Amino acid sequence: MENSKNLRNWLDAFGLKHPLVIAGPCSAETEAQVLKIAHQLKETDTTVLRAGIWKPRTRPGNFEGVGALGLKWMQRAKEETGLLTTTEVANANHVDLALQHDIDILWVGARTTVSPFIVQEIAEALRGTSKTVLIKNPVNPDLALWLGAVERFYEAGVQNLGVIHRGFSTYEKTRYRNNPEWQIPIDLQNRFPDLPLILDPSHIAGRRDIIFDLCQTALDLNYDGLMVETHFDPDNAWSDAEQQITPATLHQMTIDLRIRKEEGDAIEFKNKLATLRTKIDVMDHKLLEILGKRMKISDEIGGLKKQNNVAILQTKRWNEILGKMILEGEENSLSEEFILKIFKAIHQESINHQKNVMNAK
Ligand code: PEP
Ligand code: MN
Repeated sequence: MENSKNLRNWLDAFGLKHPLVIAGPCSAETEAQVLKIAHQLKETDTTVLRAGIWKPRTRPGNFEGVGALGLKWMQRAKEETGLLTTTEVANANHVDLALQHDIDILWVGARTTVSPFIVQEIAEALRGTSKTVLIKNPVNPDLALWLGAVERFYEAGVQNLGVIHRGFSTYEKTRYRNNPEWQIPIDLQNRFPDLPLILDPSHIAGRRDIIFDLCQTALDLNYDGLMVETHFDPDNAWSDAEQQITPATLHQMTIDLRIRKEEGDAIEFKNKLATLRTKIDVMDHKLLEILGKRMKISDEIGGLKKQNNVAILQTKRWNEILGKMILEGEENSLSEEFILKIFKAIHQESINHQKNVMNAK
């Protein structure tokens, strides 16, 4: 798959705009709902209509999709609006039905990407066709598993490929439904710069208010497209109600987003600079998160020392840490001067945290 420029062909062949906008409801609910949303999206920058027909739900008992019936509604929406169509396939039978109904793009869901057996089964069902397949990241933060799924399709002769970044599960509560872990798609982009990369801000966010910012970050990182869950009545959607936006909001969002064009030397320079800066922002954000977590541990240590009546400052331990960090710093091309400064500051903050805990009543 290395250096396969043809992976991007489908983007050009469809005459797609940058960024490619895929939008539509989490789930197809009724024929009228699919058609109404499709007609509204026709008036936006959307090129591809999405709708889930078979819905993978974390727990049983929730709405599990309308099934094959919905494919007819998608077909009708395509005839009436000219939008391309996409849906999720999770087994070979889904693939056959989607092909029969002329669905243009198939996507593989996050819960499917984790299973090489199912991925292989879907890839075999597509052997010899020229369908475009988009592969969502697996639910767990594992780049190899994601790439493995892409390779299975490539080796089955499916060459119109792309990936969708929809975030990763964590047990820890964060502001996201699925943590973005930007570093993973950035690594993937560095290894396969020609593999189209699409952001699904809806499943990362799990709520409406941060969808715009997620899209902007993706565009600054040179993503090729956005897949956004869209419904004319988000609050009453049958699935993922909290994260869907209206076609009108989507339209305004595509106007407000800063979209970088990729032509000309000066523009190319600015694009590269913006991409690198965004990568740094992502890392700085991670650094702060890690420092915050480190200080929480200091708080716990403070509590423990208080209970056991032990002094805060333990110079011997601190000198050992510092010596180790200077050596590790060298291995990472960081100067001794920098390591001393940064750890002195971290140590001071840590002592302050412990003091606060010990002084608390
Ligand atoms: C979806 O796009 O509706 C969906 C179920 O996504 P994911 O596989 O990312 O959870
Ligand atoms: Mn959804």
